[in-house]
Order: sequence, then structure tokens, then C-alpha cells
Amino acid sequence: MEKHTFRFIPNLSDEELAHLQLSGLKETLKRAATSPQYQEIFAKAGFNPSDLKSLDDLKKLPLTDVEDLRRGYPLPLLSVPTKDVVRIHASSGTTGKRKILAYTQKDTETFALQMARCFELAGLTEDDRLQVAVGYGLWTAGIGFQLGSEKLGMLTIPVGSGNLEMHLQLLEDLGASCFGATASMALLLAEEVERHGLKDKIKLKRMISGSEPRSEKMRQAIESKLGLIGSYDIGGMTEMYGPGTSIDCDYHEGLHYWADLFIIEIIDPETLEPLPAGEIGEMVVTSLQKEAVPLIRYRTHDLSRLIPKKCSCGLNMPMHDSILGRSDDMIIYRGVNIYPGQFTAAIANYPELGGEYQVELTRDEHALEHLKLTVERGQHESKDLDDSLKERLARTLHKSILARIDVAITDYSTLPRTFSKSKRVVDKRELG
Ligand SMILES: [Zn+2]
Repeated sequence: MEKHTFRFIPNLSDEELAHLQLSGLKETLKRAATSPQYQEIFAKAGFNPSDLKSLDDLKKLPLTDVEDLRRGYPLPLLSVPTKDVVRIHASSGTTGKRKILAYTQKDTETFALQMARCFELAGLTEDDRLQVAVGYGLWTAGIGFQLGSEKLGMLTIPVGSGNLEMHLQLLEDLGASCFGATASMALLLAEEVERHGLKDKIKLKRMISGSEPRSEKMRQAIESKLGLIGSYDIGGMTEMYGPGTSIDCDYHEGLHYWADLFIIEIIDPETLEPLPAGEIGEMVVTSLQKEAVPLIRYRTHDLSRLIPKKCSCGLNMPMHDSILGRSDDMIIYRGVNIYPGQFTAAIANYPELGGEYQVELTRDEHALEHLKLTVERGQHESKDLDDSLKERLARTLHKSILARIDVAITDYSTLPRTFSKSKRVVDKRELG
């Protein structure tokens, strides 16, 4: 790779990273021990923060969860005096009160730093101009993009989400070279630019998008319609300052995350035991620098895996895969953990199939479990291919899931259209 000298991304050896992680972890525990809420969590788990001697001891620490944030509303897990809090951000909870997270001055600076690092890794410099198309306000996204961009020295255009017409006008007038948006907003913009023949009037070179899963097809469509040289997937969540905890580089082999700021573990969401690198499970994060709200083995309920290799770009920051779904959607079938994302991924290999599927779990008279996957044929595909498709898809699934699955193919548009995973999985095992 071409050797970059980064301003904000540290060049650390494995030993230096491990050293920073251990000292950051000890500091984090010391800070958390001043919070009444954490004191309670530690006491309940019978854990004494001073017992932590090495990074291996991390797995002895209690897990924390979104419930801990709800319980401590409005300033949960606060581990500094209230006078040290300079900002709050919030994200909507699907049920009940929103999650509010507090920030000290240093936290806002670390937040800007992690965003600036992402921009650097995406190849941006102070000569670039960033147009921000994510929301400002209580959300972390807009302000995170803004402060990270200013920290790197880019001219920053804070348009916010929506308002496609204003975005198009300013792209022409101010010539932004990078656009920060959700993947669906990026696609919307790309289609608008194509429709109005504006590709030659704008100067976009890069796209940074996050917060929604994006297919390879979608990435290619966005890149070609806008004439981009690169697009990048950014990771993050309000609990981890906001966006910017991870991003992919030009090699797209995974998302590099800032291992001097966070330790990421992958656990089995059922047994809660840590899983080896490469295996899919739930991401659990521990912060190393956060002051106001340190995170200790916080369950994100996001599914991913650690990439068990170093990136070809040469940067020594570990990688995780993109988010593959929510751990709450996990199915246990014949003792194997299965995630709906694995069905989606297997089906995507077959252009003759539509994207819709349904899973039915049953138990026969010998108490043996069966899983039937019904997939829709593509809109204009012939039934003649069904037998061969069924066989090939069953083989692909057996390889990735390691359990026997019956595959059925049905006509296009016969399965219920739904965004809810729960409706895609029909579990009849308890009744049988
Ligand atoms: Zn890389």
C-alpha cells in the first residue's frame, strides 16, 4: 500500500495497543467505581474493580445492557460530577424513554477525533469539502460529521437530512468532494443526479454512509451514478460517542475500529460466552477513554464478527465485519445458532431468486426439529429452474449454517411483504 502519514490515526504495534488497552481499562474501571449505578452492578456480580490484572480478566467483568441506561434515566451510568457534563445526545428507544448519554469536554474531543480518523482513512484531507446530509440535533450523526470534518480542516457544509433540492444546489455551487449520508439518502441523491444529468456539474469523489445495511449492488449503483472513486461504510452508535468508531479502507476487507478507544468482543448471545475471531455473534463493547459514561462490556445486540486477519492496507487496527442484523433475531435450530442475515446472504448468491423468504420451524413426532425455508422465485423467472435452484441453495445453506434445511420455492409475490424479522420466522415447535 502507499504509506500514509496520518495526523490522527496512531501507528501502533500490537504490544503498544495491548498496553494502551490495559491502562485504559483500569482507568475506566476506576472511574466507573465512582458511579452509584456501576457500584451496584459490580456488587451484584461480586466483582471488585481492583481485581482486574490483565486483559484476559475482561471476561470476568459483568455485562451491561440497554436496561442499565433506562434504569438510570435521565443521566444513566454517570461517572463524573454533573458539572463536568458539557453536552448530551439521545437516541430514540423503540419502547419507553429515549436513551440519553452524557459527554464531558474531553468526550466531545474524542468524538471529533474518532470521526477525523475515519475521514483520514477514507482518503480525505483538508483540501476536501464535506457536505453533511445526516440529521443534526439530539442525534449524534450531524454534529459528529461536522466536528470531525472541521478537526481535519475540511470546508464543511451542514445541510442536514432531507432537502434534496438544497443538497443538489449546494453540490453544484460549493463543489463538495465528499458526501456524508445514510445509504438510502445516497442512492436517492445518485438517482436525482442521473435524472437531471448533473454528474459533470458536481465534484463528488467519495461517499461516507452508515447506519443501514447496504448491499454490494447498492454500493455499485451509487458509485457509478455519481462517478465516485470510493465509498465507505462507517460504524458507531450513540453509546460509543456516535458515528466514527469504525470505517472500511480502500481495500474493503472489513471495518477498522479504533482499538485504543474501544475493546470489541463477540459473544454467543445465548450462553454469553466470548466467541473466537471469525465467528458470528453479538458485539459487546468496552470503552477505554470515555469519561462521562464509561461502557463496560455493553451489549449492543448487533451481530457481527471480528475479522481474523490483518488488512492488506497495512494499518494495524483490527477489523469487524459489517452489522449482519440483531442478536434478538437469533434462531436456535438443532443446537446451532442461526441468524436471518445468513439466509439473506445465501439467497443473494442466486439472481434467479427474489429477496423475500419465510422460515418455518416445526418438531415431528420423534421430537426432531425441522426448518423449512420458502423463497420466492424472481419476478420473470421460469419454474423449470426450481429443482436445480432448490438443490444448490440447500447446499450453500448447509455449508454456511451446518444444519440440514428444507428449501421450497414459491411464485413471485406470494409471501407477505414485511420489514419485521419476527414475521419472517414462524416457530411452531412448541405446539408440535
Ligand atoms: Zn485497511
